[in-house]
Amino acid sequence: MKNFPQNFNDLNLSAPVLQAITELGFEKPSQIQAEALPILLGEPTDFIGLAATGTGKTAAFSLPLLERLDPSRREVQALVLCPTRELAIQVAGQIELMGRHLKIKALPVYGGAGYGDQIHGLKRGAQVVVGTPGRLVDHLSRGTLSLDGVTTVVLDEADEMISMGFKEDLTSILSAVPEGQANIWLFSATMSPEVRNVADEYLRDPAQVQVNRTEMLPENIEQIFYVTQESNKPEVLCKLIDAADDFYGLVFFQTKALLMDVAQFLNQRGYSVDCLHGDMDQQARERTMKAFRERKVTMLLCTDVASRGLDVKDITHVINYSIPRELDNYVHRIGRTARSGKSGYAMSLVTGSARGLISRIERMTKSRMREGKIPTRRDIASKKVGKVFAAFNAESNYARAVELMGAEWRDAISDLAPDEIAGRFLTLMFPDLFNDRGGDQGDEHPRGEVLRTADRRESPRGDRQDVRRGPGKPRFWERKGERRGERQGGYPDRHPRQHSHKNAR
Ligand code: ADP
Ligand code: MG
Repeated sequence: MKNFPQNFNDLNLSAPVLQAITELGFEKPSQIQAEALPILLGEPTDFIGLAATGTGKTAAFSLPLLERLDPSRREVQALVLCPTRELAIQVAGQIELMGRHLKIKALPVYGGAGYGDQIHGLKRGAQVVVGTPGRLVDHLSRGTLSLDGVTTVVLDEADEMISMGFKEDLTSILSAVPEGQANIWLFSATMSPEVRNVADEYLRDPAQVQVNRTEMLPENIEQIFYVTQESNKPEVLCKLIDAADDFYGLVFFQTKALLMDVAQFLNQRGYSVDCLHGDMDQQARERTMKAFRERKVTMLLCTDVASRGLDVKDITHVINYSIPRELDNYVHRIGRTARSGKSGYAMSLVTGSARGLISRIERMTKSRMREGKIPTRRDIASKKVGKVFAAFNAESNYARAVELMGAEWRDAISDLAPDEIAGRFLTLMFPDLFNDRGGDQGDEHPRGEVLRTADRRESPRGDRQDVRRGPGKPRFWERKGERRGERQGGYPDRHPRQHSHKNAR
């Protein structure tokens, strides 16, 4: 077996880059890094790197890319292509972090934002441009981006770029790179036939590294599916969230319309959520990501497009409101959790008929999914009691609370034993503890109840108008299935973007 470097010091990295890695807290190279770095830091070559999501591909190309730059030349020397704006911003940020001790500017360039700032940034001499294919093509055709000085081109998440329909843009960018001058490094989680085509056409004698061919997913993801009916999914979602020890997660939807419906439902239930989807403008998306990273909101509802490649630390849960139509997306979605060696839950809501899908996923990912039992309201109540007890010892305001209660209250409890007092309070606080119906059956909310709840309650935010719904349009819990429920337009591009509000219940 080949010996791979165990340590960043064993690699041919310059002192400023090594220092930045140390400051980032990277102790040793991940597998893909250990295998790719010696190649990419060596003789110039084209390259294909295949490794699962969350395995550190960004640094695998960013470090050698930085070593190739000449900071004194203020022209674009490296071009990184990413499938989404968020990823472009994230990758540009990572490159700047890793290059912080070099005088390097990495400029993200993406659609949905004005040209002015991007052109200004290019004129000021960014050495690295990280962009989405569509906008890069625009800059090239406007003459605002020159590839004359480019010596490295990276295709990050190549499979995603192609499945998102960027193949044409990709090839026109690659055709614009002066021949024989630049190396192309392709990174991807999967090698689809289309990725293979691009590689065959544009890469010359690429070196190839493939890590863990069979393991597409980190092994520390626990994959659980829950069988329920479509109309019951909002309720089940709430229960899964309530039953979690700690929830910092993403909930994925197939369509924006459904996402908005469920966001509204959750808001009405008092959950603080944010949304991320492709139709949001850039600023809104950035605001949302910032709030989520800072944990001002701990639940983000998203569509596939908005969240590919996203790297947010310590996500505990990824919930699939339904299994994505494109099975590849399943891998990409759940790869948002259990990153850098952490563990995480991937939970999927499936309707009875989706069981066939489960075995397809298991075959594709070579991993197991187990069927989970939907928590009952009683389970959740017990969980909450546990949390109350955990907080119990920390609570030091009791003297003041007793004072506030006044003499009448003190009299009322003076003859009661402590456990009786506690028991009475718990009874009041958690009536579900005594809900003996137990199983999920009796625990389901009849559809009418959900509907009434949603209609009767005031929208928590006065300015929200996304209840504008034609009389003929079914709400999501009335629809048969998410797939058939896809609608064309008709929805104002609004989303519950408040993060600060914790709705009073
Ligand atoms: P990928 O592109 O393969 O999906 P990323 O490059 O986004 O994965 O890396 C996933 C996470 O792992 C990031 O938070 C990154 O900072 C972290 N990471 C990468 N390399 C290392 C390393 N050598 N040591 C510790 N953490 C790392
Ligand atoms: Mg990546």
